[in-house]
Amino acid sequence: MTDDIWSVAGRSTRAAIDLDAIAGNVVRFRKGISPTTGLMAVVKANGYGHGAVMIARTALDAGATDLAVATVDEGLQLRNSGIRAPILVLGPIDDSEFRSALAGELALVVADRDTVRALAFTAASVSTAPVSVHLKIDTGMRRYGAPTAEAVEIASLIASLPSLRLAGTMTHFASADEIDESATLDQLAVFDGAVAAIRSAGVNPGRLHVANSAATLRSRRYDRDMVRVGIALYGLPPSSDVALWPGMRPALTVHSRVRRTILLRPGDRVSYGGTYQANRDETAALIPIGYADGYHRLLSNRAWMAVGHETAQVRGRVCMDQTIVGWSSATTVEARQPVVVVGDGSNAAPTLSQLAEMAGTISYELATAIAPRVPRIYLRQGRVVAVEDLAGLHETGS
Ligand SMILES: *Cc1c(COP(=O)(O)O)cnc(C)c1O
Repeated sequence: MTDDIWSVAGRSTRAAIDLDAIAGNVVRFRKGISPTTGLMAVVKANGYGHGAVMIARTALDAGATDLAVATVDEGLQLRNSGIRAPILVLGPIDDSEFRSALAGELALVVADRDTVRALAFTAASVSTAPVSVHLKIDTGMRRYGAPTAEAVEIASLIASLPSLRLAGTMTHFASADEIDESATLDQLAVFDGAVAAIRSAGVNPGRLHVANSAATLRSRRYDRDMVRVGIALYGLPPSSDVALWPGMRPALTVHSRVRRTILLRPGDRVSYGGTYQANRDETAALIPIGYADGYHRLLSNRAWMAVGHETAQVRGRVCMDQTIVGWSSATTVEARQPVVVVGDGSNAAPTLSQLAEMAGTISYELATAIAPRVPRIYLRQGRVVAVEDLAGLHETGS
């Protein structure tokens, strides 16, 4: 599989996206969740850095029913690529985006009366079919969502407006990836109470959805009408406390090639600030990846890469476009030798979760930080089926 990524001309530093892994993870979720529960593939932030269009298509083909993004632009990008599936915009949006959101037939999350009224006004003036909205209720995260005390009133308002349709009612969990599940169960109870109140007011709450990856992985009690799965779709565990299901695997690996070998003499200092100093004759290698590619500067002097069957430690500071790795023992390295910067756990390269731990962050952040200038090479059954780079997405036929 990793051999094929070199069949594509271009920059040495490149990400390989195994679409079979994405499809397999979707199929695994479909088998594991309740049969009547919809599967929303969350492809915000460019599909967690994997490339929104290819991930969305692959997830839909494999059995996802819905898509979610964070912004209107992200939804429009999917529409422009020809995707017709339902798309929900999860984040708060600006009033100035209403028209383009409606033109793209995007469903919107709402959480306050003013937005509902303003959206209904725009919808009535431009749109024929009622616009689907999902009411988000804040059940404990204190981020985006209607206070529970206002949920019934907002739901009733939506139901009274002919240009809107209450397509769903939802909440989001703050701590579903922690060992202690009690806060999540508390949030679920608050949500259930709010939904019961909406029903008692004679309003149909639409499809109910509460679960992110962590909640979906841990229990069927969170399934409801749909689950919203992000990180686990990509084969990345939500945290060290919540594991993936057997058979799920990461889709993304990051690769590069040795650009040149560098011989360090005792006392030589490496990279900006000279934060690494050789104390004997050492071999080092220049790798053309840096923090502007998403290889975090906090990995300086901490991370390692796999060069052939060996591991090489990051020496000194990660630069914007380049990083130096090295060995304390005599090693033969050759220019152009392939390097695995982010592995899938099957070889000596660190996984994204391991790198995240070294950088003091989470895999979500490192995945979404992979820059657009890193070409994405999409593989299906070991063959390159598409490449996405700064010039756009090119399908190479399958
Ligand atoms: C991002 C997001 C998700 C997906 O979360 P994961 O932990 O990646 O599964 C679900 N729901 C909402 C509202 C989100 O913003």
